[in-house]
Amino acid sequence: MQVWKFGGTSVGKPERMHSIRQLITSTNTRKIVVLSALSGTTNALIAIGESAKANQDDEAIQRIKDLKDHYDTFIKELYQTEAGLAKGQAIVDKEFSFIRSLANIKPFTSKQDKELVAEGELLSTQMFEAYLEEQGENSILLPALEFMRIDADGEPELGAIEEKLTTILGQHPGKQLVITQGFICRNPRGEVDNLKRGGSDYTASLIGGAIRAEEIQIWTDIDGMHNNDPRIVKRTFPIRELTFEEAAELAYFGAKILHPSTITPAKMRGVPVRLKNTMQPDAPGTLIATTTSDREIKAIAAKDNITAIYIHSTRMLNAHGFLRRVFEIFEKYKTPVDMITTSEVSVSVTIDNDTHLDAITAELREIADIEEHDRDQTIVCVVGNFSADKEGVAIKVLDALKHIPLRMISYGASEHNLSILIHSRYKAEALNALNERLFYYEDAMKDIFTAP
Ligand code: ASP
Ligand code: MG
Repeated sequence: MQVWKFGGTSVGKPERMHSIRQLITSTNTRKIVVLSALSGTTNALIAIGESAKANQDDEAIQRIKDLKDHYDTFIKELYQTEAGLAKGQAIVDKEFSFIRSLANIKPFTSKQDKELVAEGELLSTQMFEAYLEEQGENSILLPALEFMRIDADGEPELGAIEEKLTTILGQHPGKQLVITQGFICRNPRGEVDNLKRGGSDYTASLIGGAIRAEEIQIWTDIDGMHNNDPRIVKRTFPIRELTFEEAAELAYFGAKILHPSTITPAKMRGVPVRLKNTMQPDAPGTLIATTTSDREIKAIAAKDNITAIYIHSTRMLNAHGFLRRVFEIFEKYKTPVDMITTSEVSVSVTIDNDTHLDAITAELREIADIEEHDRDQTIVCVVGNFSADKEGVAIKVLDALKHIPLRMISYGASEHNLSILIHSRYKAEALNALNERLFYYEDAMKDIFTAP
């Protein structure tokens, strides 16, 4: 069995839904199809929630009406028969009357808010399932709220998901296509909850892990993970193969294509993840698996809005326990540290969430000297296979960046990541220089030397 997930733009137009039907019926493998909300819907639902919360009833009603108009138009093109359209209209009418009643509840709490944002996925999947039925496909809709569970910390409970899902799937052995919602789940209080923005990828990976799928496919509107940021760098290309570790580093360091948690369940169960493009279904995309046969240096990614904190203490000299005390302070304020470098008397760390920066700084001052923080920093991260026996990787990276002031360098923490901290003003220059040096230089040299 495979799990195929389609994101907001892939379901955002009636004709896109038509092509998804073509895609999912083009191979005989049994599939679980995970859908996001139509593009723009989750944002619109959040906006409705904001109006409701602020008691701006007229604004909420207007926003609901605008969104419903969109759906009324959408279904007219989605369905091909009178009966299909009637079914689609009934779904839209029912969900929108629920949305209206939710927005009316006072006070409008986060419980209602979560029910409201769940409507996006509830709409898209019911509409799509009705379309598949209209077209005579052998499909069924499995409500994610019956098997997707998170614990009190918002972490998915893979064991419970596996148990429930296996039971439910066992009840429908003959169904070739199983449709379900991405993003939404239930919390320990039994309430509707979600896996945070972009969470449909995570749903797909959790399902794939839970049922030990043959493969998880994430369908988007770009042709896989790129080796660099195409918005900033001219010559980028899709990466054919990545290891789970490399993909996790990239997803975390800014590659927007994948929700950062997505890799974990797939990796845990060794299920390969393939990133595919709905607009170019024949393109190979990116395969994420346990091992790869591809090149050494795979990609470059960057993460902005980083703050660097410089901690200096002569007490650190030959002392033990100093780092523990430093990190306990970050832990107390639930602030993750991204990068760290140390010398005998200093330690520098970076954070991307500076909500508690003042409190953290004040506590750090009790044990060390804290220099002025550097804000507006960017972590540039080179991802690939840097096992200890690979030589020459660092020199290429540093060579490319020789004209750029480097604030921190971190190499050796994992075999997949070399990270460098620079001021964000150098980001475009750094990404382009790295791109040329790491992906084109050697080929260019080869051409020069083999030229007749
Ligand atoms: N619809 C949700 C969002 O927009 C989940 C997803 O699309 O992955 O964040
Ligand atoms: Mg997404």
